[in-house]
Amino acid sequence: MMLPPDPHRLPPREAWFARDAERHLLDRPRFCPMCGEGLDADGGISTEYWAADARYFMTWCGACGWFGEGVRFDMVTITEVEH
Ligand SMILES: [Zn+2]
Repeated sequence: MMLPPDPHRLPPREAWFARDAERHLLDRPRFCPMCGEGLDADGGISTEYWAADARYFMTWCGACGWFGEGVRFDMVTITEVEH
């Protein structure tokens, strides 16, 4: 029996981007932030790019058509108004 091709095939371990590809598969959005549908269904996609230390996931949902991006941070510093 033939298995279908692995849609999440990783590059060879010695490739310079192998660790980034692995992190992408682990950290990418899995569900649409608007409708909650799985992004693997209906042809949704999430593409990653970087700016400094921030990781941006440009995402499109095939179920509802939402198109936008999420940003992943390792750490963030915010201020809060005094109560
Ligand atoms: Zn959606």
